[in-house]
Amino acid sequence: MRVGLFGGTFNPVHNGHLQVAKEIKDGFPLDKIIFIPSAIPPHKETETVANADDRMNMLRIALSDNSLFAHAFEISDVELKRNGPSYTIDTVHHYQSTMAGNKQFYLIMGRDAFFEIDTWKSYMDLFDIISFIVMSRPGSNSPVNSALCEPLERYIQSNISPHYEYSSLEKKYHHPDKMPIYYYPVTPIDISATMIRKLLKNKMPVHSLLPSGVEAYIKSKGLYT
Ligand code: ATP
Repeated sequence: MRVGLFGGTFNPVHNGHLQVAKEIKDGFPLDKIIFIPSAIPPHKETETVANADDRMNMLRIALSDNSLFAHAFEISDVELKRNGPSYTIDTVHHYQSTMAGNKQFYLIMGRDAFFEIDTWKSYMDLFDIISFIVMSRPGSNSPVNSALCEPLERYIQSNISPHYEYSSLEKKYHHPDKMPIYYYPVTPIDISATMIRKLLKNKMPVHSLLPSGVEAYIKSKGLYT
C-alpha cells in the first residue's frame, strides 16, 4: 500500500491542494493521501493565520465532498496534537512506526516547499527514510510541465547529495544509499492561500479558488478579514 503524506498550513485549504492531490493519487498512483495540517505557535495565530480548529474544520469540509471520498483522502491531527512546532521528521517517524506493515510512505510537496527543505529539522535524515514526490507549481521560471526540472536537480545535487541522478525511465532522482525523489509535473494551478487571504481582506470574490463550503465557513467565522 502506497500512502502519501501531504503536509501544509492549509490556511485555508484551496482548490490547488485538492486538484494536485487528486492528480498525484490517481496518476502516481497512491492508495491514500493523508492531509496533515501543521501546528503554528499560538503567538503566530493572527488575523492571517487561522487557528488549528478552524484549519481542521476547513479541511473536513473540503474533503467531505463525496467525489473526494473516492480519492481516499484522510486528515490527520498528529502535528496539531503534538506539543510545540511541527517537524516533518517526527511525523514520518510516527507513521512509519504506527502504520507500519506493508506500507510505503511518500512525502508530497510543491516545488516551492521543497526548495526550503534545507531549513527543516534533521532534513538530511528524511532522505534516508522516506521517498519524496515533488510537484511542479506555477510561479517560478522553469517550465512547469517538463519531465525534468533543472532548478530541482541543481538544488538536490548541491543541498542534499551530488550523487542523486535523474532516471528518465523511472522519472525519479535515485541515489545509491538514499531514498528516491520523484518529480511529478501536475496541471499548473495558480492558486495560493496567500492569494486567497489577500482577496478576502480586500473583499474580493474567491469562489473559484476554494470549495464553496470552505468559503461559507470562512465568511461565517469572519476569518482573514
Ligand atoms: P501560503 O500561500 O500561505 O504559503 P500555500 O498555498 O502554499 O500557502 P500550503 O498549505 O503552504 O499552501 O501548501 C501545502 C503544500 O501544498 C506545499 O507543499 C505547497 O507547495 C503545495 N501546494 C499548494 N498549492 C499548490 C498548487 N497550486 N500547486 C502545487 N502545489 C501546491
